[in-house]
Amino acid sequence: MNDSNLRERLVECGQLFHSRGWSVGTSSNYSAVRREDPLEITITVSGKDKGKLDVSDFVVVGQDGSPVQGESQKSSAETMLHVKAVQRLNAKSVLHTHSVWGTLLSDFFHEEDGFEISGYEMLKGLEGIPDHQSSIWVPIFENTQDIPALADEFENYLANHPDRKCYGYLIRRHGLYTWGKDVFSARRHIEVFEFLFEVIARRMMMTNIPSPIRLA
Ligand SMILES: [Zn+2]
Repeated sequence: MNDSNLRERLVECGQLFHSRGWSVGTSSNYSAVRREDPLEITITVSGKDKGKLDVSDFVVVGQDGSPVQGESQKSSAETMLHVKAVQRLNAKSVLHTHSVWGTLLSDFFHEEDGFEISGYEMLKGLEGIPDHQSSIWVPIFENTQDIPALADEFENYLANHPDRKCYGYLIRRHGLYTWGKDVFSARRHIEVFEFLFEVIARRMMMTNIPSPIRLA
């Protein structure tokens, strides 16, 4: 897929995620690998309304996260989190959302450093998950404006859990990062995670309410 196609697909992600309330108020950022060697990543510029992105609202960065020569726009402060997912997991697209349910769960489970999701049919939407009996772990990292430190924490997590496939992670009171082998795959992973986050959070809330009143 060429660079303008990638931008169009990422613009569509913005429209969908914004309409679902996962990328409101200029939050979030989206990227895709446009060239492998040397690495070049097309990523959203900072501060744009993700529901109204234009193909010019992107900047190309290199493997150090800095804009390549000739670029005048600035990318998100979180660019290195995209670069790390590409470098460490061979992702071809990285997507980041700020949803209500993801934010709530990231806070609720932060002391456990994450939470497990198992037994849901929707898990099969994650690349390589064979059936609903599978389970995955969603790690949670503390939020910080020190992005290199956050990137290091992500890398340390991967190094310390080589047996545990990582499909995405939450940053506490902040949002979700996930990725895929292309934009379609990464977008599907956002949809699957956001669905599951909402189900889990709503279910937790339902266990605290009284049983439905029955007709006599
Ligand atoms: Zn963010």
